[in-house]
Amino acid sequence: MIRRFFTYYKPHKRLFMLDFGSACVVAVLELAFPLAVQWFVDSLLPAGEWRTIVLAGSGLFALYVVSTGLQFIVNYWGHKLGINIETDMRQQLFQHVQKLSFRFFDNTKTGYLMSRMTNDLFDIGEMAHHGPEDLFIACMTFVASFAIMLSIHTPLALITFVAVPVLVWLVAACNKLLHEAARRMYAEIGEVNARVEDSMSGIRVVQSFTNEAFETEKFMRDNANFRKAKLRSYWIISFSSSGIYFLTRVFALLVLMFGAWFSFKDRLSYGELIGFLLYVNLFFKPIEKINALLEMYPRGMAGFKRFTELLDTKPDVADSPGAKEVGPLRGDIVFKDVTFGYEGHAKVLRHIDLSIRAGETVAFVGPSGAGKTTLCSLIPRFYEVDGGAIEIDGTDIRSMTQRSLRSNIGIVQQDVFLFTGSIRENIAYGWLDATDADIREAARRAHLETFIAAQPDGFDTQIGERGIKLSGGQKQRLAIARMFLKNPPILILDEATSALDTETEVVIQQALEQLAVNRTTLVIAHRLATIRHADRIVVVTEDGIVEQGRYEELVARGGVFAGLHRA
Ligand code: ADP
Ligand code: MG
Repeated sequence: MIRRFFTYYKPHKRLFMLDFGSACVVAVLELAFPLAVQWFVDSLLPAGEWRTIVLAGSGLFALYVVSTGLQFIVNYWGHKLGINIETDMRQQLFQHVQKLSFRFFDNTKTGYLMSRMTNDLFDIGEMAHHGPEDLFIACMTFVASFAIMLSIHTPLALITFVAVPVLVWLVAACNKLLHEAARRMYAEIGEVNARVEDSMSGIRVVQSFTNEAFETEKFMRDNANFRKAKLRSYWIISFSSSGIYFLTRVFALLVLMFGAWFSFKDRLSYGELIGFLLYVNLFFKPIEKINALLEMYPRGMAGFKRFTELLDTKPDVADSPGAKEVGPLRGDIVFKDVTFGYEGHAKVLRHIDLSIRAGETVAFVGPSGAGKTTLCSLIPRFYEVDGGAIEIDGTDIRSMTQRSLRSNIGIVQQDVFLFTGSIRENIAYGWLDATDADIREAARRAHLETFIAAQPDGFDTQIGERGIKLSGGQKQRLAIARMFLKNPPILILDEATSALDTETEVVIQQALEQLAVNRTTLVIAHRLATIRHADRIVVVTEDGIVEQGRYEELVARGGVFAGLHRA
């Protein structure tokens, strides 16, 4: 795990060296200053030479300037290192998650992915910057200052060392408490986030039921819980830093007292005593630093573990090694003995055999939940069949790349998903290289012209989050325009007109019929009137495909379809 973590430093090796090197020099200078002070007091002051004193002062000043410059480097470039690593990881994760399959997204909450992309990566970035550097410097300062203290006055150094177990005990105890408190705090902020997301994305429902007070009450509970958890962690932080402050000062005072005693007995000069006390400060500092690291490390590592878990999640549907790029397909679709079920559910489709000729329009009807949408979602390979095979133009879809397969298939659904942005951007989503003329033509064919002409900003009109500023029919026509641009040989219309009023439906139906020209079209229909002219109607129930034929044939047969027809 650690080794894998360090691979992320590789592209930023030079930045790391610069940061790490500067930090080391700063630490060495910090260690040298007390010696300089000691020499100043013991050698320069008694001699009383102003020139040398001023010279030494200037030398010290120069060192401070250097040290300050290096500290700037450590602060800025060190954080830059952390930020770079965080950015790399976020990009890698985003690219990876985009490749994961529908099954993954069926079982993963968006909020979970949001936390992985933000909070976890903040923690990891902090750890990437502070982790190795601070740990190394803290250890070095601790050991070196103790060694120097030993060389100045061994008994006094040993007395000082007594403070270490006491401080370590305090730091460790507080750290454990803090760790638990932080976990509580993270859990509570997760609740608050989830509540905000739920209430805000459902705000229209909330307001229409006038349940604002109810929502506020739920929110207040979560918010209060978060406040409590956060307060507790700050109580612990305050307690531990005050405790450390108090103990280090008391120990420093003790050292001063013992030092005074040693100096009376004339074995310790004033300069040595002052220098020693300065080292005591340096000696205690790393303990606090390590305390902070001990808090940061598990959090960062836990985040990194979740990061790698997500990164190691394999897509359920992947291109096979020899997968071929296919060009435009004709659109002959054959289901051969296809069996499929969602994870943890009974099989939805069992031994389905069906063949659709290129250019044919086939309608699927049947009770809700029978598996019509599922059947269609197997064609673009959103899910992998459990048994059997699907072939297009005689080639198993598993031997095509997903990218080239999907570029041949267009889907228009009942609930159209549009992106925040303009009408133009949303139409162009069907073909990112489309020219303005292409976009205009697509809009015209989708019967969108008059609507767009009536907008103050025309094609640049913003449609709001998920297209909230458009009516159901307008969204549907936008989706159709997008499909005209994509121009796929295979078209799937999944209850595309079900949510519309009759008048709008007629307009959209016309647009859809134009869209279906010269394409293999699979229509899932709610209202039978819309599929009167289909080349073939396939009736799907829980028992699979039970009837096939033309509209009139099926009505005449008096089977399941005739029953639906009467209803
Ligand atoms: P239809 O389109 O005919 O109404 P679907 O294909 O949507 O039916 O659904 C068929 C069955 O599969 C239903 O029982 C439904 O609950 C289940 N189902 C649909 N989508 C999923 C999914 N993503 N995960 C698990 N089960 C699903
Ligand atoms: Mg459906």
